[in-house]
Amino acid sequence: MTARILVVDDVLSNVKLLKAKLTAEYYTVITAYDGQEAIDLAMEQQPDIILLDVMMPRLNGFQVCSELKNNPLTTHIPIVMVTALHDTESRVQGINAGADDFLTKPIKETALYARIKSLTRLKFVIDELRLRNKTNAEMRGIIDRSVIEYSRETFDGRIIVVDEDRLQAQQIYKILSKQCFRSVEVLNNPNEISNIDDNCDLIILNTQFSEIDGLRLCSQLRGKLETRYTPILILSDESQSESVLIKALEMGVNDYLVTPLDENELIARVNSQVKRKRYQDALRMNLFNNAEMSIRDPLTGCYNKRYFYKHLQNIVEDAVVKEKHLSMMMLDVDYFKMINDNFGHTTGDELLKQIQKRISENIRITDLLARFGGEEFVIAMPDTNIQRAYIVAERMRNMIAQPFILSHNTVNITVSIGIALIQESDLENVNLFVERADKCLYKAKDGGRNRIVLEDAVT
Ligand code: GH3
Ligand code: MG
Ligand code: MG
Repeated sequence: MTARILVVDDVLSNVKLLKAKLTAEYYTVITAYDGQEAIDLAMEQQPDIILLDVMMPRLNGFQVCSELKNNPLTTHIPIVMVTALHDTESRVQGINAGADDFLTKPIKETALYARIKSLTRLKFVIDELRLRNKTNAEMRGIIDRSVIEYSRETFDGRIIVVDEDRLQAQQIYKILSKQCFRSVEVLNNPNEISNIDDNCDLIILNTQFSEIDGLRLCSQLRGKLETRYTPILILSDESQSESVLIKALEMGVNDYLVTPLDENELIARVNSQVKRKRYQDALRMNLFNNAEMSIRDPLTGCYNKRYFYKHLQNIVEDAVVKEKHLSMMMLDVDYFKMINDNFGHTTGDELLKQIQKRISENIRITDLLARFGGEEFVIAMPDTNIQRAYIVAERMRNMIAQPFILSHNTVNITVSIGIALIQESDLENVNLFVERADKCLYKAKDGGRNRIVLEDAVT
């Protein structure tokens, strides 16, 4: 498995040395001697991995890293930061800049090849998924960005530590919990790995067990459908031979850490594995849901605000150019807070889903419905004048006023609705259109709720 690697360092001899080592292993090497050149080359050449020196004049490694990670064209390229040996501060800064991994100077060959191998394998999976998503991404330019955002949220990963060494497991638990990961679970008995399901973002596995060969556990995890794609980070102490590590990496283990653990290194490796898992998940989800997941609100299945604005622009343009009507309806549930207070948040959620259902049933397929905020919905209705919109709104208001029979309660609620009609000037700024509908909604609230207010009181 070969890859194109961009080596960035301001010191010529460092670049030369790395280039020689990597070329000997049949990697293709591209080189850059300063930050800006690295950014330009990364965009232009789309390397598979970037080895990035931290200390550089002008743009330093952290700046280059954040810039690349914030750019949809380069965000998926793994970046390995090259830092001084005991410079833990740089590692923390690197994590914050979005670095995927670290190597310390002087660079050890096993570490270099291990990181590159593991990152290349992953990069290729991501490339394949990106390719399949490309069409969707082109149709909806927002997707790439939301995938980035989704994959950034590594704070809520579920991590399972499999380690007989209770002290070490406890230490890992402490370090990672402090990082506000959603949950860290410790399994002291290696037989328990058969219970790990697919709701896991990372398995940290000590390869040294008293009665079982750790590598066998890795192969077991890789063989199981539920954990086939779950990143595995193994722990090995220095006495373990390099050949074991290499075997493990070949088996599909994603990375390794040498014990005794360095806190920052542990955090860096965990962050990077969880992040990449998220990236893959996001892409897979887009793929399987026909690019719908990242543009929909997870609770109700409605489009989200970002998608709404993106498409509102197109709808508005279409209406203005074709001189068609377009109405905007803003709907907010009255006293929704009381529902949560009286019946609990779960009932509130259930109710929101039911409300969404009733709204959907009362609009046309060409209408664009989105969940705007907590209990606020917005509907853009093409080809609909304000009188027609009023009729729809009135029907909706009546439907929603009917009792909702939920799993534990029956509740009655009402809604307030504001409606605005398109103006030609909205083409310049679609927000104004939304704001006018919102103003009407607030008039409806002020007027006593459970009512509809039209822009300029056309009724
Ligand atoms: P008003 O008639 O003025 O709109 O009163 P309200 O209580 O509906 O409005 P307010 O904005 O004060 O409160 C909205 C509430 O909606 C507060 C928040 O807890 C709740 N909420 C927002 N999002 C969700 C959600 O996803 N699930 C649940 N259960 N409640 C939510
Ligand atoms: Mg409300
Ligand atoms: Mg509200």
